[in-house]
Amino acid sequence: GKITIAIDGYSSTGKSTVAKQLADYLGYVYVDSGAMYRAVTLYAMQNGIISKNHFDTAKLKESLPLIHLKFYKEPNWGKAHIFLNGKDVEDKIRNLEVSKFVSPIATIHEVRAKLVAQQKQMGLEKGVVMDGRDIGTIVFPQAELKIFMNASAKERAQRRYKELLERGENIQYIEVLKNIQDRDHIDTTREDSPLVKAADAIEIDNSEMNLEDQFHTVLQLAKD
Ligand code: C5P
Repeated sequence: GKITIAIDGYSSTGKSTVAKQLADYLGYVYVDSGAMYRAVTLYAMQNGIISKNHFDTAKLKESLPLIHLKFYKEPNWGKAHIFLNGKDVEDKIRNLEVSKFVSPIATIHEVRAKLVAQQKQMGLEKGVVMDGRDIGTIVFPQAELKIFMNASAKERAQRRYKELLERGENIQYIEVLKNIQDRDHIDTTREDSPLVKAADAIEIDNSEMNLEDQFHTVLQLAKD
């Protein structure tokens, strides 16, 4: 029968690529939980709640009931897009600007409580692959398969830098590396649901693995 698969790990370890491939192959639903934190961040940026020198936590907490997130997929799209209050924001949430604010936003307990509740709902039916930071520990502690992905910070930054360049962003490698190190630090040291490998998760270091190797490793685990 179908199972629940949780894929966690540090930023830019390629979790989402493998999670999506696996979901497509198994006919499962793929959920990108990071997109939800990114969409909340975009909302805060668009509504004067955060900027470089301003961070209004109280206003964000008050605004949470006004933030509606939904995943929706057209057959010709590779993956489901995230919609923020009815608008497709899939393309707007991937830039370095959002990446800089998202981890501080993800430390806020009320933000996590809201998103975790929605994620648990999405997992009520088996046949879900979800990736994030707290999926195996908090969202689906009962998941039948838990993967913890890792790779060196240098390798991750290089992959992410290439991706952002391909998207036409005008950035420096060093900025991307710093962002990844900052997010790792915030994610692992926050009070609420810090990023930690679940006791029963299987760790995969993919620094030296190509996508195909990773996919086959994870698929084998899913079949076992
Ligand atoms: O997965 P992605 O890198 O897009 O996630 C963006 C940020 O959202 C992470 O750096 C982390 O701070 C936060 N996040 C989280 N819990 C999750 C998914 C993402 O705290 N389950």
